Amino acid sequence: MPKIITDQNLRLLIDTLVGEGKRVIGPKAAGTLTLYEPLASAEELSLGELPRRSAKETFFPLCENILTYEKSSSGTTVHDIDPARFPETVLIGARPCDVAAAPVLDAIFSWDFKDEFFLERRRKTTIIGLACTTADDACFCTAVGLSPADTRGSDLFLTPLAGGSYRCDVISDKGEALLAAHAGLFAETDTAEPVSLAEPQLGPLDLDRIKAWLDTHFEDPLWEEIAARCAGCGACAFLCPACHCFDISDEGSEKQGARRKHWDACGFGKFTYHASGHNPREVQPHRYRNRIMHKFKYYHDKFGQRLCTGCGRCIRACPVGIDIAQIIDDINRK
Ligand code: SF4
Ligand code: SF4
Repeated sequence: MPKIITDQNLRLLIDTLVGEGKRVIGPKAAGTLTLYEPLASAEELSLGELPRRSAKETFFPLCENILTYEKSSSGTTVHDIDPARFPETVLIGARPCDVAAAPVLDAIFSWDFKDEFFLERRRKTTIIGLACTTADDACFCTAVGLSPADTRGSDLFLTPLAGGSYRCDVISDKGEALLAAHAGLFAETDTAEPVSLAEPQLGPLDLDRIKAWLDTHFEDPLWEEIAARCAGCGACAFLCPACHCFDISDEGSEKQGARRKHWDACGFGKFTYHASGHNPREVQPHRYRNRIMHKFKYYHDKFGQRLCTGCGRCIRACPVGIDIAQIIDDINRK
């Protein structure tokens, strides 16, 4: 049975969680943008629009140290970063297209190597998803098998109600535990009427048909047509909730420094650059082809899932107007 939480009690919940010492991350105004950021108090919560960057940074920071080192007269000391010290976290007000990407990423980060930096943050995070009541021209979650009320990946899920309260559905044991620990902020209901939810313009696409075309069109004039103008800026990958490539580099001096894990992007010219000087993806269309292949073929071949939740961020941000929704819609019609 769903519960009800008023807007006032939702804010009280945030302040209580902050008071308990938890890291609470939610949409927050940052200059002219809204971003998922740590909230110092409920006053900072800003639920009006889809944050500019995705929520993946909750589990997969843009850049982080994985060890540091110091050299002294007695030798070199290496300090490991201990993931067990990552804080308990609540991600609140995250949209379905962001939240649905988290379980998709679990597959790669727990595959051949268990990435404890990602997995420990996932274990320690409770996600309170929020249904979308508005969609812009770039939103297309409905085309890739999701919806503005999709609960995949959420532990609790909020649906706005007329009058400013929220219906709260319990999706997982983690959500049940958070709700039980703050039960006084929730009320019983069996009559909650949601406000109208968003209706993205692009309806369901046949993702199996798209994959079948990709299976047989590694070489095709389409890649040149759509990606000759790609600037290789990487904005699409950095903003995407599902893109997850990273590089590891050592930074510092002979005496001290850090080994750092930081985001990378297959759109960058040097992403596949070999030490020999050979680059197997030597032109931009080859790099953009990899982006589409990875999202709609390779990841599905390996993990049975797709790397796009239809958030539309790459469409909004692309400086040359490359539109992934248009591309997969076109492939679906071939
Ligand atoms: S590929 Fe584009 S639309 Fe799809 S999830 Fe990534 S940023 Fe969003
Ligand atoms: S945002 Fe556009 S121009 Fe930049 S790498 Fe992605 S597709 Fe290319």
